[in-house]
Amino acid sequence: MRQIIISLFAFTASLLLLVASANANEGSIAFVGATIIDGTNADPLIDGILVITDGRIRTVGPRSAVTIPDGAQIINVAGKTIMPGLINAHGHVGGTLGLGGGQYNTGNLLRQLGLYARYGVTTVNSLGGDEEQGFALRNEQFNADLDRARIFVSGSVVVGDTEEAIRDEVNRNADMGANFIKVRVDDNLGASEKMPQDLFTALVDQAHIRRLPVAVHLFYREDAKFILDAGGDLLAHSVRDLPVDQELIAKIQENDVCYIPTLTREVSTFIYESVPDFFSDPYFLKEADSAILEELQTPERMSRIASSRSAQGYKAALEVAMDNVARLNEAGVKIAMGTDTGPPARFQGYFEHMEMHMMVEAGMSPIDAIRASTGVAADCINVGDVGSLEPNKWGDFIILGANPAEDIMNTKTIESVWIAGNRISD
Ligand SMILES: [Zn+2]
Repeated sequence: MRQIIISLFAFTASLLLLVASANANEGSIAFVGATIIDGTNADPLIDGILVITDGRIRTVGPRSAVTIPDGAQIINVAGKTIMPGLINAHGHVGGTLGLGGGQYNTGNLLRQLGLYARYGVTTVNSLGGDEEQGFALRNEQFNADLDRARIFVSGSVVVGDTEEAIRDEVNRNADMGANFIKVRVDDNLGASEKMPQDLFTALVDQAHIRRLPVAVHLFYREDAKFILDAGGDLLAHSVRDLPVDQELIAKIQENDVCYIPTLTREVSTFIYESVPDFFSDPYFLKEADSAILEELQTPERMSRIASSRSAQGYKAALEVAMDNVARLNEAGVKIAMGTDTGPPARFQGYFEHMEMHMMVEAGMSPIDAIRASTGVAADCINVGDVGSLEPNKWGDFIILGANPAEDIMNTKTIESVWIAGNRISD
């Protein structure tokens, strides 16, 4: 009997394999007639054709210049806009369930990567809190069957009281295969101790020995200058205490470092003092869990936030952050969209759209915000084969009913999301 069950199992398994390979994303699909925003500095293409073969972009160009391969499936997208999938350069994946943490497992990772994907966020750079299961998903995602957002990982947020402890922790993350080393240089509005400068310097040294870039959580302008002088590679939040000055702008540019505003992170700290407007946005509600919304609207919880000094401190900090985005963008600093979503009440997927809208509200043009969320973001997180619609890159893109370069609110008109050429189901 046992023998029969085992061979039955083997038979079923091989059958499943057969089905899987038959379903694999083979052959070509041609998307014909859309306006194509390719995520680079090129002008949008009117009446373009995008051809995907085996999960990757084969050709993209104007109708007159593209030959559709024989046998390709043709999808008419006239009147629509195609742009690369959104890249969140600062998120966290897998830890939160409802309004609680400590839920890290493969099922929760996949659930959240599916949620991001349905909102058109096709790549997430997870900056901390990553464990083995997240690394495994990162390793598995470079194939044409992918049907969820891509994840890149940092491992643990590095902390330690001694140089040795810091170097050991960097090594542990590096040994696991981290994409970034993540560290915090902040005192949480005076509520905690900031990492001493000598330990930060040792951390950067060890990360660079392991050939890994360092992504830094920060708050204060003078810390940002120190971080850049010490070799930090990515500013993972806004400077929020003071206006950025010429000295800081020069340091950012000399070091060719990217800046991630995470404006919605600030929003999340105080917005639940009352009922947020977005609680009545259908685009939010389509994925929202009503039990979470109810909990966020309990009067005790709202009044606690209204009277919280840190919430009100971050509300003021947001004003500074918004001004700084405008200044840095004007100076030509590379700005990457990032939200710090993942922790409780920072809604993955929806907040990335809100972030783009706020970047425009702060003073960026819609096309700047789009580039910050696609090609520039890919460059900032060192991922070469997504973020723009160019030959040989993965077929990660979104099809929209209206053009977001004309009105950034149109990012909410997503009609379909494609990852490695696979349509993500709603
Ligand atoms: Zn974060």
